[in-house]
Amino acid sequence: MKQINHIIGGEEVVTTSARTSPVFDPATGEVTAQVGLATVDEVDHAVGVAVAASEEWMSTSIARRTGIMYAFRDLVVKHKNDIAAVLTAEHGKVLSDSLGEVQRGIENIEYACGLAEHLKGSFSQEASTDIDVYSTRQPLGVVAGITPFNFPAMVPMWMYPNALAAGNAFILKPSEKDPSVNTIAAELLDKAGLPAGVFNVVQGDKVAVDRILEHPDIAAVSFVGSTPIARYVYATGTSAGKRVQALGGAKNHMVVLPDADIGLAADAAVSAAYGSAGERCMAIAVVVAVGSSAEPLVDAIKERISGLVVGSGTDPASEMGPLITEQHRDRVASFVENAPREGATVVVDGRSGTFDGDGFFIEPSLLDHVAPGMACYDDEIFGPVLGVTRVATYDEAMKLISDNPYGNGTAIFTRDGGAARRFQIDVDAGMVGINVPVPVPVGYYSFGGWGDSLFGNSHAYGPEGIDFYTRAKVITSRWPDPASSTIDLGFPQNI
Ligand code: NAD
Repeated sequence: MKQINHIIGGEEVVTTSARTSPVFDPATGEVTAQVGLATVDEVDHAVGVAVAASEEWMSTSIARRTGIMYAFRDLVVKHKNDIAAVLTAEHGKVLSDSLGEVQRGIENIEYACGLAEHLKGSFSQEASTDIDVYSTRQPLGVVAGITPFNFPAMVPMWMYPNALAAGNAFILKPSEKDPSVNTIAAELLDKAGLPAGVFNVVQGDKVAVDRILEHPDIAAVSFVGSTPIARYVYATGTSAGKRVQALGGAKNHMVVLPDADIGLAADAAVSAAYGSAGERCMAIAVVVAVGSSAEPLVDAIKERISGLVVGSGTDPASEMGPLITEQHRDRVASFVENAPREGATVVVDGRSGTFDGDGFFIEPSLLDHVAPGMACYDDEIFGPVLGVTRVATYDEAMKLISDNPYGNGTAIFTRDGGAARRFQIDVDAGMVGINVPVPVPVGYYSFGGWGDSLFGNSHAYGPEGIDFYTRAKVITSRWPDPASSTIDLGFPQNI
């Protein structure tokens, strides 16, 4: 059986622990590899290696670091099909979606390539008489990333390109469910010329996470995953004195106003709810149908679902692949099972699909008359189950969103520019789509939700990513003539 190992100091390191976790091909249900789970000592070893490597890396010139980031970008572009194939084999998403994920990750590498511009300080000549003031941004040292299963390539790329470009060494603890793509990233960074030990991959679970959160030599932690773990990571990491950004789960609402183009809204809802089998933090989980839009919208979504092709991610005909594990598939099915008891209507039951083999498949489901208080509304299902909540007015739709504890993404579908503008201003969410159902910001903006979708003040990637992985310093400088030096106990005045 293939074993997936750590990459520390440019070397493959086999865990000394007896603990491993199975990696599945979700399309067949077979275990294809075991991933070795790190011990505390192995995390400590990786941090020690990263600390040593960070000394040289942070004093490496901007020109050299830029060259390495460009070379890495070109290598990822060259190998994107290989990365996507490995991603589909362990995650299950369809190949075109895996390629899309890698492409969105490349955006973040391209942003990091502009490090010369991003790390520029400012300079004020003669801020006071004979005094200049200027600012710089310096790397933090060793920083870590802990990432979820659902975007095993892209979410780490939200983190390490900017962190490395800024001059930090990086420890990545990817999801143990689909860990292989990041060992490829480590190989490509090595080929691009990154010195050994600057980027390390530690495979593991809670043991590794807890050691990362308490290790005194790790200055900052970026986390992306479910809300309970994000809350825990934020509380534990910050109480250990670290800078932490922890992005959590979501329950994204898409509001459809009565004036919307129903066909366009239905296409968007189906794409955003069932793409990647609903295993996206920016998936649409609830369509909020305002007034007369409800009836035609439910009909249009139902009609489109019947045409969706569910199958192995490697089959070019498939539009939706399996879920990540059997347990997760069964949990998703339980929301559909319980929905009628809670008062919702099952319009399309995805549990009725039949598949050959033991893959973790389920077909798309559509629930109508979903409302707060029902598990299918309140919980993050993270699967291909779309709920429709019917409301009479725009204000009721807004109240639903503001009462929801999550605030990741949201969208409005309308032909009314004034209503869309009002929504954009009023809505309680960090990322807003106007006739765009999955408004993931481009790499030169930053990504982050509100409420229980983000703990900490800093969003991921883009300008806030650079800020997160650096700290600012302001220098006040004077070159006086010693002959004119005097003693003055007064507070310095700017004159
Ligand atoms: P998860 O929270 O189970 O795991 C995320 C990471 O935390 C993994 O590396 C895992 O090993 C580690 N982990 C798991 N349990 C832990 C514990 N008890 N203690 C310490 N560490 C632990 O999340 P997941 O199932 O891998 O990913 C899906 C979740 O991630 C969904 O909730 C989704 O909404 C969320 N997500 C959010 C965003 C965002 O940007 N807000 C993006 C992608 C995914």
